Amino acid sequence: MKKLSILLLSVLSFSFNAKAEKIKLIIDAAHGGKDAGAKAANGETESQLCLAFAEALQEHAAKNNIEVVMVRTADEYVSLEQRNTYKPEPGVKSYFVSFHMNSENTHSARGAQIIYYSKSPQAGASRRVAEKLVNGFNMINDIGTTLSDKGSALVIKNSEIPAVIIEPGYISNEQDLRKLKDKGIQQEVAMLVVKAVTE
Ligand SMILES: [Zn+2]
Repeated sequence: MKKLSILLLSVLSFSFNAKAEKIKLIIDAAHGGKDAGAKAANGETESQLCLAFAEALQEHAAKNNIEVVMVRTADEYVSLEQRNTYKPEPGVKSYFVSFHMNSENTHSARGAQIIYYSKSPQAGASRRVAEKLVNGFNMINDIGTTLSDKGSALVIKNSEIPAVIIEPGYISNEQDLRKLKDKGIQQEVAMLVVKAVTE
């Protein structure tokens, strides 16, 4: 009898946890349509790469029972105002994750950058996710990952749910670009994000 009640208790607490831990990811592939974003020397666009990372994350998140909302699923234009209008829902842990590719003129800068906004309504939770991402990136990336709390971009600035921008590398750097186009790297980044929002 005692065994049964322990079993029952663990079943109950498991289902309670499963319910409490419902996770939802809003995945934003930045740019798109008339806004191609930054361009690589070979003509590759930031908007294409953002979508590739977003799709890899969509696939991996779905496999881990995470509900996914894609801001865009094709090469289409979505205004900044329309991208993040998400409200917290009771019993759901929601996160807004936006993919951008970094770019600069000297073509020498490399590495990933994780950005959140220290004055956003969800700054604390955003920072926790951002720090987990930095640690994760540091494990797959030998050139260093930087953390910025000054993300004043509209999509994360006023976000009512925890929000981060992930710049997995520089589209302006040849070596980074090769990595950014690598499906294996896109999947590794997807795994990092899923880990960061589920642990
Ligand atoms: Zn961008």
